[in-house]
Amino acid sequence: MTTIQTISIFPSFELSRQTITHHDGKVFEYYLLSNGLGRAQNPPYQSDVFVVANHTDKGWVLGISESYPQEWRDVALRHEIAEKYEPNPEHGCDACKRVLLCELLEVGLMCGDDTDRYLAYVTFRLRFFQEVVAYYQVAPRDAITVALLECLIRSRDTLVEHRDMLLARAGLAAG
Ligand SMILES: [Zn+2]
Repeated sequence: MTTIQTISIFPSFELSRQTITHHDGKVFEYYLLSNGLGRAQNPPYQSDVFVVANHTDKGWVLGISESYPQEWRDVALRHEIAEKYEPNPEHGCDACKRVLLCELLEVGLMCGDDTDRYLAYVTFRLRFFQEVVAYYQVAPRDAITVALLECLIRSRDTLVEHRDMLLARAGLAAG
């Protein structure tokens, strides 16, 4: 089994190189990235919690911040791999939302009867997308970032609906 390698593009922020096995059995390298990377961007990324995945002219990049909760790092990395490593052009702007819905199913299974843990995850992931949306709203605009922002807003809105549904269900159960 060959490992899909990540190139080094943030050498001073790379803490360690690790691997993750994707759902299809492919093994991917990724970097665990130190927190200062976000604030070193121009414009600065306000959150310390981020995931980096991209095709560059030098190769594929995959990384996640050390402040991303450890128990959910693999889920976030698999989201990026599913969405960006072999993107399906047919899905276009729905790719992120489509992967997010699969992610929520996976996390739901991991949480089982622990509905509080699941709600905490959805709330965390919503905040993550809110922060990414806020970043791209102030980042320099080009065709790629405009399209990306639209995708991210769809995912954020999906999480808002999902959280509200969970809260309504919890309210019904409590009442
Ligand atoms: Zn996504």
